[in-house]
Amino acid sequence: MISSQIQLASYLFASILFILSLGGLSSQESAKRGVLFGIAGMIIAIISTVLGEGVSGHVYIIIAVAIASVIGILVARKVEMTSMPQLVAILHSFVGLAAVLVGYGSFLDPHTQALTGVEHNIHVGEIFIGVFIGAITFTGSIVAWGKLDGKIRSKPLLYPGRHVINLLLVIACVVLGVLFAKAPGMEGMIYLYIMTAISLFIGVMLVMAIGGADMPVVVSMLNSYSGWAAAAAGFMLGNDLLIVTGALVGSSGAILSIIMCEAMNRSFWSVIFGGFGDAPSGPAKEINGEVTAMNHEEVAGLVEEAEKIVIVPGYGMAVAKAQFPVFELVEQLKKAGKEVQFGIHPVAGRLPGHMNVLLAEANVPYDIVLEMEEINDDLKETDLVLVIGANDIVNPGAIDDPNSPIYGMPVIEVWDAKNVIVMKRSMATGYAGVQNPLFFKPNTNMLYGDAKDSVSKINGFLKS
Ligand code: NDP
Repeated sequence: MISSQIQLASYLFASILFILSLGGLSSQESAKRGVLFGIAGMIIAIISTVLGEGVSGHVYIIIAVAIASVIGILVARKVEMTSMPQLVAILHSFVGLAAVLVGYGSFLDPHTQALTGVEHNIHVGEIFIGVFIGAITFTGSIVAWGKLDGKIRSKPLLYPGRHVINLLLVIACVVLGVLFAKAPGMEGMIYLYIMTAISLFIGVMLVMAIGGADMPVVVSMLNSYSGWAAAAAGFMLGNDLLIVTGALVGSSGAILSIIMCEAMNRSFWSVIFGGFGDAPSGPAKEINGEVTAMNHEEVAGLVEEAEKIVIVPGYGMAVAKAQFPVFELVEQLKKAGKEVQFGIHPVAGRLPGHMNVLLAEANVPYDIVLEMEEINDDLKETDLVLVIGANDIVNPGAIDDPNSPIYGMPVIEVWDAKNVIVMKRSMATGYAGVQNPLFFKPNTNMLYGDAKDSVSKINGFLKS
């Protein structure tokens, strides 16, 4: 058992570690340190909470934590880098579910029933808001998981008047909230049940209405919601650390959502209300031109001729685990005196920062990894762009076809370079499900096949 002062001091220490963790995660060099700060903060947080005053049933808590830790370790070891977004989405759903359960537990707690006046109103208000956000986060995250995992189609589910229906549902929840606060004793439970059902439905509909290419914003938005759900749980439990941690996750998730919205040229407010991702009304712009392909030897020849080369990786590089042969390629090209850079789109892959993580894993130096805005200006002077398993992020339709579902999203304008090689296995579409006019451009050639295999073969030709 520890005293409440020691607990408070440990909470403060853990909060500082969480802030340092977030700071560390902001750059690749310090990311590992950031993760270690986070782990240390969480261990301190759990131990000081469990050993705090008024906590009983330690044996059950230890057993539960041990089982959950084993599951967590097994899942984390097993998960492929390509399935990480789904894992993150499903973990957000757990936070939402936890907030709902804490809300119900808190309402059933005899202490809550003993409260009167303003205290009672504030506490039931916390419960109601916590359950509301938690339930939306829970089902919204499950739908996001389904969409990212390909279990639910990524096309937006739109029906007429959905904004009005969503608004009416929120108003209904507010009315239920007032009735809940006014109901004596346990009579409020029925309002809590109804509101939970409505919120679960809102969570499903908010994310179902969002189209494939806009999912990155939804993932970061649900991250933010899960933080607010945790903060609400902190208020219900009177746990300062949970409030601080929830607010950190909530606000950093919101900042990330704003960054993602800017990257995708979407309005932040329409994301919050699930009101974007609308299907375009007209037919897609007609694509002219022919698709031409090259073999590995021909591509190796182009690479040898080029002086300035830009590599644009996408989700396919993650699937193929091509980052290691890509690093080898970069080393060879640098040795041959060529200028090589990477162009990273903010939503490349399936997770914010996905490509940076893969390239860091393969030891690619950070100084040649540039952001989209930095690389776009350079592309006109580039001899060759190697697009490795990317599709939506290099789609010119985002710029010149108002009927494209990804219209308005800034893309890496690879077609400005002298030559473009697109490495992918087929003519299949990317995550947004739209055809890519880039493949039909006269300066573009396809190199069909698995990205790892293709890059390795090119490496082989360059060596010989
Ligand atoms: P895309 O999903 O648009 O395209 C990836 C391409 O990789 C596919 O067309 C596929 O073509 C190819 N590919 C798959 N496997 C391999 C392989 N083994 N070898 C070679 N190629 C392969 O990816 P982008 O990175 O271009 O764009 C990301 C998309 O994901 C955007 O629409 C974005 O909005 C969305 N998204 C991003 C999130 C984020 O946070 N970053 C989160 C959720 C969604 P083929 O089958 O022919 O090989």
